[in-house]
Amino acid sequence: MFVDGEGMTDVLIVGAGPAGSHLAYLLAEQGLQVTIIDKQAFPRAKVCGGGLSRKAMNLLDFDLGPAMHQEIGGAILNYRNRDAIIKEIEPMAACTVVRSEFDKLLLDRACAKGARFLAETAFIDATESADAVSVVTSQGTLRCRLLLAADGAASAVRNKLFGKDLVAYVPALEAMVWPAEGVLERFGARALFDFDGMPRGYGWIFPKRDHFNVGVYSPFGGTALRQHLDRFTAAYASLQQPLRVEYQGYIIPLKNRRNVFQRGRVWLLGDAAGLAEALFGEGIYFALKSATIAARAIAADGIGASVADSGLYSRLLRRELLPELRAAAWMARLIYRFPKLAFSHLVLNQHINHDFAGLISGQMGYRHCLFKTAVGFPRWLLPSKAPESGGNPS
Ligand SMILES: Cc1cc2nc3c(=O)[nH]c(=O)nc-3n(C[C@H](O)[C@H](O)[C@H](O)COP(=O)(O)OP(=O)(O)OC[C@H]3O[C@@H](n4cnc5c(N)ncnc54)[C@H](O)[C@@H]3O)c2cc1C
Repeated sequence: MFVDGEGMTDVLIVGAGPAGSHLAYLLAEQGLQVTIIDKQAFPRAKVCGGGLSRKAMNLLDFDLGPAMHQEIGGAILNYRNRDAIIKEIEPMAACTVVRSEFDKLLLDRACAKGARFLAETAFIDATESADAVSVVTSQGTLRCRLLLAADGAASAVRNKLFGKDLVAYVPALEAMVWPAEGVLERFGARALFDFDGMPRGYGWIFPKRDHFNVGVYSPFGGTALRQHLDRFTAAYASLQQPLRVEYQGYIIPLKNRRNVFQRGRVWLLGDAAGLAEALFGEGIYFALKSATIAARAIAADGIGASVADSGLYSRLLRRELLPELRAAAWMARLIYRFPKLAFSHLVLNQHINHDFAGLISGQMGYRHCLFKTAVGFPRWLLPSKAPESGGNPS
């Protein structure tokens, strides 16, 4: 328990996931006094496939060291474990991490820069005055000039201060599968995406150092996820007769219904702001990107009076992030509403699938890919190259 009302911190960040810790690092680097609170002690588990795209790694731009479980050099794109297309992506498309380790690494990096971390300190409520925010936590009251909410998909800050219906989300379910000896080595350094993994959605298999992360997701939501996950895993030899399996599910926030990201001295970031993308359910990149945008807005405006009114953070998000998220949502609608058609005409089509694979690494933006898919429409009708199914290790 800290002393109530003890002093004033420049910024108080709620939530030490990727958005919160990366922002803490960037603001500490600017020389601001940064306090970051989390309701949990670290390291803590987080439900997540742990797929980190190269564009996310580029934003961090430091060596992940042992937190990197597997470099991902390509993608296996298929439909119910048939017609596999194997796309090698150079340089490394992505890597896999385990979130307890990855998030601790980001938090330690922020603390090493000078941020102060208060563990097991939950946000409860906040009131804003002309020049400060008074924040009630489970450990007492803190005061800050800016309150930055990075407390995840079910954000308590958002629910309290922005209303309970601001963000729309869908469920996702994953299993951690510890396979028999030699199976991971045979699977290799690729991530697998199955466009029939779940109705109007997909299934993934991401290899880690000692297990697979396997999951299903649909941007349209859905029920009976456990049944879909069981049907999906049953199609893959690598996932049969495992040594151990653990299931866990959570929500992915796909839309900020009113595009409201800040109110005075309180800003929303990452999942709390509803900033995951709809096509793959990727959220870490967008959490990190919202942190870099917030840090830029603060660097431009400072944390004085103008920061509450300028709206720069929201304008930058609308300009740099929302168009990509909207294009991802259009692509998700197109692909998952007609998965068989989309798979045979987009994914199996060598004229298009290279771009599609580029989305996974970030070499291709969603807007660009959507545009090329639309203008290349007549080419969809060209005969597809024979599926490169040889060597599919799944
Ligand atoms: C099944 C599943 C699989 C996924 N797979 C991937 C993937 O492979 N790749 C990818 O990029 N994205 C994936 N995502 C999405 C990704 O996990 C999120 O988008 C990402 O974690 C968002 O980061 P964040 O920092 O905004 O929030 P979080 O990582 O959720 O961090 C929020 C933090 O806030 C803390 N907190 C919550 N409430 C409070 C409170 N009241 N007071 C104080 N602290 C609080 C929490 O303890 C937590 O530490 C997946 C999501 C799911 C559900």
